[in-house]
Amino acid sequence: MVAPLALSVQPVVYVLHLHEPIGQKQHYVGWTKRLAHRLCDHRAGYKGIAAGLTRTAKLRGIEWTLALVVTPASQADERAVKRVTRAHFCPMCGGDPDVLREHVRGSLLVLPRVSVPPPGVRYHPERRLLRPAD
Ligand SMILES: [Zn+2]
Repeated sequence: MVAPLALSVQPVVYVLHLHEPIGQKQHYVGWTKRLAHRLCDHRAGYKGIAAGLTRTAKLRGIEWTLALVVTPASQADERAVKRVTRAHFCPMCGGDPDVLREHVRGSLLVLPRVSVPPPGVRYHPERRLLRPAD
């Protein structure tokens, strides 16, 4: 079951794999305590909410996939993940997530498909809220 994790409030490091590179970049690595909200922010692509890379992806019509989650994870874990070459651990690039085991303390979760927003939930970007769908 993916939805409970996506909705969890556990701190996580997450890796987004862009289906096409933007310049030299094809991944976004972030840290959040509210994964579902953050993914919706990235998906919405609004300035000031989404990261620059995923905002650019939105503007160019480039899709992305949540490739990997580390949980629980600290911001130090995020920095550690960012020091590792993404393609070495990104499963969508043929990498091996186990490469990260020596760098982070949390569990590695590979999530082949996560819908954003999660099933049965609507995202309200103006209020940055997730609510059950009507
Ligand atoms: Zn990748």
